[in-house]
Amino acid sequence: MAKERDQHSYTRRRQAMVTRHIAQRGITSSVVLNAMGKVPREAFLPPSLREFAYEDSALPINEQQTISQPYIVAYMVDALQLTGGGKLLEVGTGSGYAAAILGEIGDDVVTIERYETLADSAREVLGSLGYDNIEVVHGDGTLGWPAQAPYDGIVVAAGGPEVPESLKQQLAIGGRLVIPISASQTEQALIRVTRVSEHEFREEHLTEVRFVPLVGDAGWEDRHADKRAPVAREVTQRPSREASSMRTSELIAEAADPIDDIDEGNIDRLLERIGDSRVVLIGEASHGTSEFYRFRARITRALIEKKGFDFVAVEADWPDASRIDHYVRHLQTPPAEWTAFARFPTWMWRNEEVRGFVDWLREHNASIHDPEKRVAFYGLDLYSLFTSISAVLDYLDEVDPQAAATARERYGCLTPWQSDPATYGRAAAAGRYRECEDDVVATLVALINKRMEYAQQDGERFMDAVHNARLIANAERYYRSMYSGYSDSWNLRDQHMFDTLDSLLSHGGHGTKAVIWEHNSHIGDASATDMSARGQHNVGQLCREAYGDDAYLIGFGTHSGTVAAASNWDEPMEVKQVRPSLRDSWERLFHDAGMPACTLPLRHPASRELDKRMHESYLERAIGVIYRPETERASHYFKACLAEQFDEYVWIDQTRAVTPLASKTLDGVPDAYPFGL
Ligand code: SAM
Repeated sequence: MAKERDQHSYTRRRQAMVTRHIAQRGITSSVVLNAMGKVPREAFLPPSLREFAYEDSALPINEQQTISQPYIVAYMVDALQLTGGGKLLEVGTGSGYAAAILGEIGDDVVTIERYETLADSAREVLGSLGYDNIEVVHGDGTLGWPAQAPYDGIVVAAGGPEVPESLKQQLAIGGRLVIPISASQTEQALIRVTRVSEHEFREEHLTEVRFVPLVGDAGWEDRHADKRAPVAREVTQRPSREASSMRTSELIAEAADPIDDIDEGNIDRLLERIGDSRVVLIGEASHGTSEFYRFRARITRALIEKKGFDFVAVEADWPDASRIDHYVRHLQTPPAEWTAFARFPTWMWRNEEVRGFVDWLREHNASIHDPEKRVAFYGLDLYSLFTSISAVLDYLDEVDPQAAATARERYGCLTPWQSDPATYGRAAAAGRYRECEDDVVATLVALINKRMEYAQQDGERFMDAVHNARLIANAERYYRSMYSGYSDSWNLRDQHMFDTLDSLLSHGGHGTKAVIWEHNSHIGDASATDMSARGQHNVGQLCREAYGDDAYLIGFGTHSGTVAAASNWDEPMEVKQVRPSLRDSWERLFHDAGMPACTLPLRHPASRELDKRMHESYLERAIGVIYRPETERASHYFKACLAEQFDEYVWIDQTRAVTPLASKTLDGVPDAYPFGL
């Protein structure tokens, strides 16, 4: 019964899609409209994506490929000008969906796919739907399939550098080949080649499109495809019109700077817009997305190399980040018994993407003679109560054993709660245990009072101890505040992160420049989001208030793909599917703009109209270390005004989970390596 209801609902949505997205956009061929109305697109999708089957968008399938956008499938098949029957060839089977459309029209269809896994699953789905006129071949489609040639129509669903000669030769006279061609991998012109006679071909330019690369003998080389560029999706581009009559996604497409390569792409225009800002805050829409980490590193490397930024401060605990700092600045690492970045969520910092940046920074610093001038790496967060306590005690043991004894006694107030500081917070807030506030504050004050004496011995280590002692004092309050109300503890934590940053900037002196890496929810100005109604502020807002235009806030977003996240706190990491973004969200507007990856200036908008639209309020998605797709709307979306939240927005349409570090990959790295176990 439920199954029948589902079928009925799919059929209804399919008809609506054909009317709204295909017929109303100018496809009139009845053979194409009939075929689009018959093929159940949901059957070609994994169960988790079926509900989006009749939205007009490309969706991710295995092997980082896509099932094509229905409109573009219809557009390409329409361009073959078929009347029904005949022999057809498709290159790029993918899910098998477009092959099924061709199967509804032609007598016989051959479809070729370079990934065996995709070819196998497409064959299975097509078989189960009864398409016995479609042959699925695993192989290089740029060579065509001479065994069945000539073909009345050939459609290529991936973009290549030129029209493969073998495909032209396999056309019947009067037959047509439709293929995306370009000099770059993601932007192409859709070309129609008609075989007029044995030796004569006519070529027409149809429109602009974006497809995944055609990889093969007469396509791009494999190494291009393996480069970790974002997966492109197809979309036709429209000519520009009066701004006020354009949809917001069209305005975005017109104004955004495309990112052509996440790791190495040209970001000169972004750097120009950042200008002389000395605090650049770079966000992420999840803690587990590779592209966010990599593009953030790309921007940071440029800020260090081209604008002389002095340090990177991240949403990690101070003592853990110190390990990285010592490593990248080639300093002696004081021995310690604890493991850095071992606390949940370990993948947030212990991943290949961060490791790549850390190794780059160490190499960059190697050529700077004075250790003080080397680019530093700091942690702003406050979850390291006990490692910070041991760092302060280790320090005092060395410089002032008597002060160490007093501090040990004072910190003893917290010792019973070592394994679970939150329980201390609950007991103290409920009056069942004495508050340790006076003790931890007294230790901090005692340390600061002796700064002349201690700093003379080693200024760097003194500063490290003060940061740890301040962290302990704030963490003690933080754990108590967790039981007095959520916004209190949120504000305390963000205030601590801001204060730590501010003291690092002051310590560095006039003109010190910092890059901050945190989640969007800390970086994007909270006063522009639902957070303000809850009385919450954050690092981005505090930076704007303190530094004005000297702070440049960059947010990130994605439509779908995979993400590394857990289902609950302290549970293992999983690679989860990110659901396609919701209607009424900023993500959906960017997705509809059809750019695989881009940056959109918000502080310096391209037009008044765009600025006006960016000041509207839409949903925005935040994935932290927990991702619960089943309750996504309630758990992960909130309302935000993008133009007030950020100065710049980075969009990466399809994204992948970060790669956590496996300890075996650490073989052979130096002992002091920050992620060493
Ligand atoms: N038509 C597909 C559908 O409806 O799901 C979508 C195709 S997807 C946009 C492009 C496909 O082309 C990918 O699955 C990719 O692996 C495949 N491809 C790329 N180069 C190829 C080649 N030389 N031969 C065969 N398939 C290729």
